[in-house]
Amino acid sequence: MVNFEIARKRMVQEQIMARGITSPRLIEVLMKIPRHLFVQEAMAAQAYSDGPLPIGEKQTISQPFMVALMTDLLELTPRDHVLEIGTGSGYQTAILASLVRRVWTIERIRPLAMQARKVLDSLHLLNVNIKVGDGTLGWEEEAPFDAILVTAGAPAVPETLARQLAPGGRLVIPVGSESTQTLLRIRKEADGSLTREAGIDCRFVPLIGQQGWHAPQ
Ligand code: SAM
Repeated sequence: MVNFEIARKRMVQEQIMARGITSPRLIEVLMKIPRHLFVQEAMAAQAYSDGPLPIGEKQTISQPFMVALMTDLLELTPRDHVLEIGTGSGYQTAILASLVRRVWTIERIRPLAMQARKVLDSLHLLNVNIKVGDGTLGWEEEAPFDAILVTAGAPAVPETLARQLAPGGRLVIPVGSESTQTLLRIRKEADGSLTREAGIDCRFVPLIGQQGWHAPQ
């Protein structure tokens, strides 16, 4: 029988803090959110392991370190309004929702969105709006956003998402081929211009949509 609390503490210390992520608010939230509730019951014992896991529908819950790194790169403040593309299991959504004022999240696969909603509700994370659809088009009615996180690999930065960033806003997105990407942070300056910083190499499932990859036939 796994003690989830001990497994979670070890995950945070050995996979996240040991790799240089130490922001106190983020660490506190990672220590708190029960990651094992976001995977299928049969996988719960592996929920705190150092890698992604399948969540059904050929999709994955991201590696804990990747969730922590992407969150850190967003430079969030408690007042922020955040857009997430690729709800997946809802684990990353729960981390974001614990750190900011409100999260809008879009998932293209309905059963995943419905399951994520259930778990987020059970944790009383009520500052989350979930929509089923093509996240490459953003969420026009709620824009602009202080931060946007894309949790699937894109061929290029979707122009619509860059447009929906507020001045000073940050967009974190893996960009590259369908199999490997580089994690990018795009920042919208006060004058509306965009600056781009490249981070680590990574491997995400493809971002499928009008401004992403084509759906497999
Ligand atoms: N952050 C998630 C978690 O913690 O479970 C992992 C997300 S998974 C790596 C990427 C997700 O992006 C998948 O659930 C996939 O269905 C979704 N996705 C891919 N293209 C999308 C699009 N255009 N709009 C919305 N969701 C998309």
